[in-house]
Amino acid sequence: MVRPTARALRAEIDLRCGRSLPFTLLVIDGSFVPTAGQLNARGAAQQTLHQLAADSTAGRFGRKVFVRGVVEVSNFCRENCSYCGMRRDHRALTRFRAKEESLTRMLLDERPASITDLNIQAGEDPVVVRDVVLPLIRTLRRETNLGISVCLGTLAPALYRELHEAGASFYIIKFEIADANLYRQMAAPGTLEERLGAIEHLAATGWNVSSGFIAGLPGQDDTSALANLELARRLPLAGCSVSPFIPGDETPLNGAPTADIELTLNCMASLRLMKPDWIIPAVSALNLAEPGAGYHRGLRAGANLVTINLTPAGIRDDYLLYKRERFIMTEERILGALAAEGLAPSRQSLADFLGPKPAVAAQGNTRPLERSTV
Ligand code: SAM
Repeated sequence: MVRPTARALRAEIDLRCGRSLPFTLLVIDGSFVPTAGQLNARGAAQQTLHQLAADSTAGRFGRKVFVRGVVEVSNFCRENCSYCGMRRDHRALTRFRAKEESLTRMLLDERPASITDLNIQAGEDPVVVRDVVLPLIRTLRRETNLGISVCLGTLAPALYRELHEAGASFYIIKFEIADANLYRQMAAPGTLEERLGAIEHLAATGWNVSSGFIAGLPGQDDTSALANLELARRLPLAGCSVSPFIPGDETPLNGAPTADIELTLNCMASLRLMKPDWIIPAVSALNLAEPGAGYHRGLRAGANLVTINLTPAGIRDDYLLYKRERFIMTEERILGALAAEGLAPSRQSLADFLGPKPAVAAQGNTRPLERSTV
């Protein structure tokens, strides 16, 4: 198969600006660098961008999409991100930690047959990591073949090690915002330097790491949007997500506009063209950025991972990222969306696909900045 260079791909996209011609499947060489033109593409140019991304995904993964479950186990959070409803200063929020026994029972006996992996997610809460997450991972490792991902924030190196030894292999830690000034203004977790240090450290100590960023935050311009893609490209990742900014009702940004779905999808497509091998999720917030269509369009713009929400109904409304009314991605909705797009659930787990990752000798720059509290 002919492998066009990044320059040829760019020429292909440029050539098709303003036209709607059919085109052949292109496989890119991984050195594609997106431009502001691609971020802002509309009409035929945008269709071409998304089609190239979909073709690249199909060329690498066929019609198979990874299906994971997620359980949100705590909404306690020591961070204070301006965009997030679980921020520390949101004193009116009822805080919860899930009960390990009932979660374990549900996951062993009642989980959907379609999931091959489980993601355990929480606010940044070291207490829940020790009391709930670690025992849960040990049980799942013993009793199931599920691949285990965690998304638990910036923790101490010893806790990362315990999680890995317990049987988790995929760490999801978004860098959130590549623009250091905007990162500070948004009070994103700790410091950007610390967050990037954690990503480098995790990748160097045996984890497959997925990161991510928020598209369309107030104050983000083309330069900072492109900086997100450029930072993602340089990090040692197995995957990356793009979440559209959704103004949270109970956050300081409640009056800000929702991210433009077109920008969000163009970022997803650009990521896919940059990294044909990556795991790129269709995030549930696509449903909020463009109700009825955003999620499906994400599946057509390079996504190859979907997530079924398994958080018990009694607690999930307080896992407040944006709005209290959540559009819960049930197994039925997820399988329906895949079928509608001509896609099918992968039977291979993410963990199996990515395989074990050898730890490399710790380098000076792989040590995360230490947190004082854990
Ligand atoms: N505490 C963990 C961490 O720091 O990685 C877990 C994830 S945190 C609870 C929730 C994630 O949701 C953040 O990483 C952020 O990217 C996303 N998020 C929160 N508020 C958001 C908003 N208003 N719009 C879009 N994404 C948002």
